[in-house]
Amino acid sequence: MKNEIKICVDMDGVLCDFVTGVADLFGVNTKDLEIRDQLKETWGLEKPFDITDDDMWIVIDDSGLKFWSDLDLFSWAKPLMEILSSHSSQICLLTSPSDNISCIKGKIDWAKRYFPDIPVIPTSEKYFCAHNRSILIDDKESNIEAFKENGGNAFLFPNQWKLKDGEECIYDAYDSIRDILKEMK
Ligand SMILES: [Mg+2]
Repeated sequence: MKNEIKICVDMDGVLCDFVTGVADLFGVNTKDLEIRDQLKETWGLEKPFDITDDDMWIVIDDSGLKFWSDLDLFSWAKPLMEILSSHSSQICLLTSPSDNISCIKGKIDWAKRYFPDIPVIPTSEKYFCAHNRSILIDDKESNIEAFKENGGNAFLFPNQWKLKDGEECIYDAYDSIRDILKEMK
C-alpha cells in the first residue's frame, strides 16, 4: 500500500538462533555460566567460544546451506512478526549474508519455511533501506546507528540470552516497537 511503513527485520539474533547453530558445530555448551555471561556482554563469538573468526566461517561454510536453513526459530519470532503485520503489510527480512554462496540460499529456505510471504533482502549495507518511513529491528548496534544516521527509524533488539534468562523482557521489546510504529503513523 502507498506510503505504508516499511518494516525491516533482521534474521540472526532476532528471528533465528545463529549463535546456537555455531555452538552446535563446535560442541560449545551455551549453558556454561561463564560462556553465557560472555554471550550477554560480547558481540561476536571469538571470545565466548574460544575460536577465531576465520575458523568459525570455514566450519560454517563447510556445513553448506543446511546450517542456515536449519537454524532454530526463536519462541518470540512468530508473535513479533504478527505484531509487525498488524501495523504494516510492508515487511522484509533484511539480513547480512556471509561470503559463501550457500548462505543466501539457506537463509531464503529458512524464511520460506517459517515466513513464506515475507521477502528476503540480503545485504550487509542495511542503511540503504533507511528513510523516515522505514524501521529496522536488529540486534547489532552498528546497524541501528547507521540506519538512524541515514534517516531511518530503528529498534535495538535485546540480547537473546538476556531474554532467555529473564534479564530482559520480550513484552517490553514489543511495547517499544509498538511505540515507535505509532509515532511513525
Ligand atoms: Mg542480527
